[in-house]
Amino acid sequence: MILNFISNILILISLLGCKENVNLQSGSQGKNDSIKIPSNTNPDIPIGLQKLLKAYPDFLDSADENTLYWKDGTTMIYDDGKEKTFDEMLDNPDLEDMFNIEYPKGDWTPPPGENFDPGRIRYDPFFKKMYGNSASEVSGNMVTFVWMPESVGLKLQANKMNGVAEKLEQIGKEFDNLPDNLKKYVTSSAGIFNWRTIAGTDRLSTHSFAIAIDINTKFSDYWRWAKNLKYKNQIPQEIWEVFEKHGFIWGGKWYHYDTMHFEYRPELLN
Ligand SMILES: [Zn+2]
Repeated sequence: MILNFISNILILISLLGCKENVNLQSGSQGKNDSIKIPSNTNPDIPIGLQKLLKAYPDFLDSADENTLYWKDGTTMIYDDGKEKTFDEMLDNPDLEDMFNIEYPKGDWTPPPGENFDPGRIRYDPFFKKMYGNSASEVSGNMVTFVWMPESVGLKLQANKMNGVAEKLEQIGKEFDNLPDNLKKYVTSSAGIFNWRTIAGTDRLSTHSFAIAIDINTKFSDYWRWAKNLKYKNQIPQEIWEVFEKHGFIWGGKWYHYDTMHFEYRPELLN
């Protein structure tokens, strides 16, 4: 009888214990359900995908381990899983390859090492989807703005998507405040929009999307103009750091240098 009583008590205690455990578990599950963790802070998402989400919020919705989800419901694979040489990455990249070489934002030490071309690897379908799939589609996305309204007043056109034209307008306004010895580098432009392949290649230039600007060619150096790849540059930091601040990378930091060239690539600067 007494043994029975004790065993009943023990059963009761263990049941109460179980009940408490169940309650704790369901309570913590309920808490997780109510706190939705934004997918772009999920540590399982590759850093490159996280950078893309941060850089292009107008177009991109979310990502998982290897897929980018666009706001229009379409998807893109991040890593195609293929091993590639540098030339193969240029000719046939995936989104992941765009982050293969880290762009040195801010202070840096020239010259760039062999094939150090951060930003030259671009997955074209990604840019076509945002900025336009053809010359006429890109033209339809272009707006006019005034470059350096106080001191130059040059009318230019650039892509309005991702606020690119607005950002260039802002850069021009900042250049209005520079002393004359620095203004000379940016008082003219060799152009923004030109649907074309990069010289000597089948790859589209970012000028095709009207998201790149060439500044004054008089003070510029380009590896194809030189007899060899010996690095040359005349563009001072006061110029390229303003572009970088607004999301534009500089071709002057490339082994295949193009010191007049700036293109909107915020994913490489965030
Ligand atoms: Zn250019």
